[in-house]
Amino acid sequence: MSTPVGPEPSNVICTACNKQVTTSVTYVSSTKTHLIALLLCVLGCCPCACCLYCTKCCRNVEHRCPSCNTFLGIYER
Ligand SMILES: [Zn+2]
Repeated sequence: MSTPVGPEPSNVICTACNKQVTTSVTYVSSTKTHLIALLLCVLGCCPCACCLYCTKCCRNVEHRCPSCNTFLGIYER
């Protein structure tokens, strides 16, 4: 079960320690990121493809509990 979360750190109840926490977020590249990057490469936009990896706009956001590091949910673009 994952908690519905947004792109920003959110206040959730941690499922492991049952405390209200503000999640710590990490940005992960999604399959979609790779597909779009590949597509941009094919179209001859390699610099754009590189940009994709530098920005966080195309990445999923993983939320974890700051105290026990339990995975709490993912926000998918
Ligand atoms: Zn926790």
